[in-house]
Amino acid sequence: MPEILDFDYVILGAGPSGLTFAHRLLDEGEPSFVVIEAEEEAGGLCRSVAVDGAPLDIGGGHFLDVKNARVTDFLFRFLPEDQWNRYSRITRIRMGGFDDIDYPFESHIYQLPEEEQAAVLDSVARAGCVTGAPEPSRFSDWIRWKLGDRIAEIYMLPYNWKIWSMDLDDLGAYWLHKLPDVSYEQTLQSCREKRPAGTVPAHGTFLYPKAFGYGEVWRRMGEQLGDRLCLNTKVTSVDVETRTVNDKFRGKRIINTIPWPLWWELAALPGDVAEAAGRLRHTSIDVDYVGRNETSDAHWIYIPDEDVPHHRLLCRNNFIAGARGGWTETNSARSGPSGKWRHHNTFAYPLNTIAKPDDIELVLTWARSQEIYGLGRWGEWEYMNSDVAVAHALDLAGELLSRKLEAP
Ligand SMILES: Cc1cc2nc3c(=O)[nH]c(=O)nc-3n(C[C@H](O)[C@H](O)[C@H](O)COP(=O)(O)OP(=O)(O)OC[C@H]3O[C@@H](n4cnc5c(N)ncnc54)[C@H](O)[C@@H]3O)c2cc1C
Repeated sequence: MPEILDFDYVILGAGPSGLTFAHRLLDEGEPSFVVIEAEEEAGGLCRSVAVDGAPLDIGGGHFLDVKNARVTDFLFRFLPEDQWNRYSRITRIRMGGFDDIDYPFESHIYQLPEEEQAAVLDSVARAGCVTGAPEPSRFSDWIRWKLGDRIAEIYMLPYNWKIWSMDLDDLGAYWLHKLPDVSYEQTLQSCREKRPAGTVPAHGTFLYPKAFGYGEVWRRMGEQLGDRLCLNTKVTSVDVETRTVNDKFRGKRIINTIPWPLWWELAALPGDVAEAAGRLRHTSIDVDYVGRNETSDAHWIYIPDEDVPHHRLLCRNNFIAGARGGWTETNSARSGPSGKWRHHNTFAYPLNTIAKPDDIELVLTWARSQEIYGLGRWGEWEYMNSDVAVAHALDLAGELLSRKLEAP
């Protein structure tokens, strides 16, 4: 029998969520924890490598949102503010047969050819949310209801079909509510005046490291954990009753940032929990290096055209000094043979299926009753960016540290 090591916290996964949780424990003088990570480097989906002499983000294009100062201040401790470049986001949509148009699509209809503008306007006037039709619950009906048939058909549905590569009607519409309304009057005015009308979302600002890629901040966070971070250590079993991982690491609490469906094989779960965890769905994406520079000044380009396998092209020559080329993101179900360099991300996007809200709630409620806490993109099964993962980790650590641990 191997020796059992006891900790207050056993943290599964060293992506942004697990790393932030661990550092918050250290900040609060709580040294009794271990982080278990399958890969040879910390950072999860946010890791970077060097390809063709410049950084490439292996989990797709990664940029740090600046909206949450608590998060940026926390990350600047590891990669100081002067080591990041600050950009005003330039993004475009590449449609087959048209010139690239600015993002968001709905605000730049006037950049389409005139006959296409007329078709879009006509369908916006008949969109369900404009005419007062009842709000549908299925994804594709909801997109048509919200944006009209034409925007749905030439942009939103093909793009979503490419990125998710599944029956879109298995997705719920509950996560789409932040999409702005498209107003017929404003779209018409915009087409007449040939400029965006109404409320155009402010140019987002993002940060990207001056050197080494987005992965650098997480790599440094991992390095500073010293031997509390166990790399190259895959979680292969969890004894839920004793909260013992791999028959070796026993925690008073477990923080789970790894995908719940993996728990099928790792642990004996109650039947309803196992079923709910097994219903959670995800997509995989391939990230492929492209050596050619785009002539566009965009940081990245969305590609709804179904004849092109990838759905997004990252132009790293426009956000990494001295770099050339960039990389593409392709749903693995659509990927062709690999070119010069490819990274496959098995767990890329948690899917917002119709059943997901109930399923994840059931899993998380059961887990909490066992002092096991789901955290982050996979632990909460939420389509969240790394800044949100950091915020959730800071919050959960705060909550748990304020609740005293039971004596063993
Ligand atoms: C294409 C794409 C683009 C994105 N763009 C952005 C962006 O521009 N800006 C942004 O902020 N965010 C972006 N994100 C989101 C960002 O990647 C996530 O928010 C972030 O990585 C979540 O961190 P996490 O720690 O919760 O999960 P992850 O980063 O997935 O970390 C989970 C960790 O668990 C480990 N693990 C899994 N299974 C096991 C096991 N059995 N044993 C041990 N360890 C295991 C993994 O190796 C990984 O290190 C993007 C994501 C994708 C896919």
